[in-house]
Amino acid sequence: MTSDAETFLPQPIDAEPKPRHRSRAVTIGKGKGAVTVGGGAPVVVQSMTNTDTADIDSTVAQVAALARAGSELVRITVDRDEAAAAVPHIREKLDKMGVDVPLVGDFHYIGHKLLADHPVCGEALAKYRINPGNVGFKEKKDKQFGSIVELAIKHDKTVRIGANWGSLDQEMLTHLMDINASAREPIDARAVMREAMVRSALYSAKRAEEIGLGRDKIVISAKVSAVQDLISVYRMLALRSDYALHLGLTEAGMGTKGVVASAAALGVLLQEGLGDTIRVSLTPEPGGDRTLEVQVAQEILQTMGFRTFVPLVAACPGCGRTTSTVFQELARDIQSHIRDRMEVWRRRYPGVETLNVAVMGCIVNGPGESKHADIGISLPGTGESPAAPVFIDGQKAMTLRGEGIADEFIRIVDDYVARRFGGAGAGKAAE
Ligand code: SF4
Repeated sequence: MTSDAETFLPQPIDAEPKPRHRSRAVTIGKGKGAVTVGGGAPVVVQSMTNTDTADIDSTVAQVAALARAGSELVRITVDRDEAAAAVPHIREKLDKMGVDVPLVGDFHYIGHKLLADHPVCGEALAKYRINPGNVGFKEKKDKQFGSIVELAIKHDKTVRIGANWGSLDQEMLTHLMDINASAREPIDARAVMREAMVRSALYSAKRAEEIGLGRDKIVISAKVSAVQDLISVYRMLALRSDYALHLGLTEAGMGTKGVVASAAALGVLLQEGLGDTIRVSLTPEPGGDRTLEVQVAQEILQTMGFRTFVPLVAACPGCGRTTSTVFQELARDIQSHIRDRMEVWRRRYPGVETLNVAVMGCIVNGPGESKHADIGISLPGTGESPAAPVFIDGQKAMTLRGEGIADEFIRIVDDYVARRFGGAGAGKAAE
């Protein structure tokens, strides 16, 4: 006799993300490169250059690299006359190279003046970013903010109202601190700061609308550097408005800390349906590759199942059963091979980004995980016979032996991609 527990499956517990927060759709740029943020559109990946914008060639090279890595919007600093004068040339050069990614101008302090003095710059940019915390002080603040918004309306551009913890609107903060101090039950000072961030972004967005900027031209952000604060701030923004949301942890940091903090914060919010575009603000190593921030943003979205960008490589961590470095080297080589080939594969093999590859270290989980992937290899662990079974579409297809296993496996992956995603006559390799 069998018990209920043995004959009935339990109710499934789904890990479905919440439905996307309803936000206005904002179209940034025109023509082929135009990108929609919000309104239920797929979450857009964006990034920012760290070159001197006045250095046209360096900026063009970095924007192109970021766009080729998959950045769908690229922001550049516009901090002085030389930078503003360079922007139209940067746009022109990118267009000639066939790089049509929309450019976003990052303005602080003198944005109103730069945009007024360099109308061609204002025209070449697709979007202006204004920080309400440093657009000016007292009566100048409203005037200068208004000038930028009027120029955005004149050039038919979108605007991001981007509040930031590091440059929080001090008048707003002081006002809220005063109210809190006289309250019967004052709230925590940090909560007052979060409220000031939210109000600063929403108040400025409302002001922009009053001046005449359409709601469908406004994206807002309120970036902080601590994960829990960011989650709290964006929940409040979403509760109180339907502006498209730009999501990102500011000053995320360097190396693993920046990656982990961004993934933790953005992961929670994306799961709650919040965020229409994301940027991962990593501090690069000196001379490091700026495109890493694009890769991390894509991997956050892809590993959570929101978008697909590049084939995923599943690899086990290795353990005492993998005393040689063969397995680590193959995992690294296959990952970089796929990244290097993607520019060509994307054009030639539509759908290739959905490919799953597994590189496993031994027989314990190797065959099982490899069978779940489209194509997988289980390398021999310590003491196992020196043979590496390869699984294609869940079936053992061959066994590799000898010195050239890595090269051979990469060739097998290439052939599989060509057969399965190569168009007419293509099918699954095992079919
Ligand atoms: S698959 Fe094998 S080598 Fe990899 S972690 Fe598991 S036991 Fe270790």
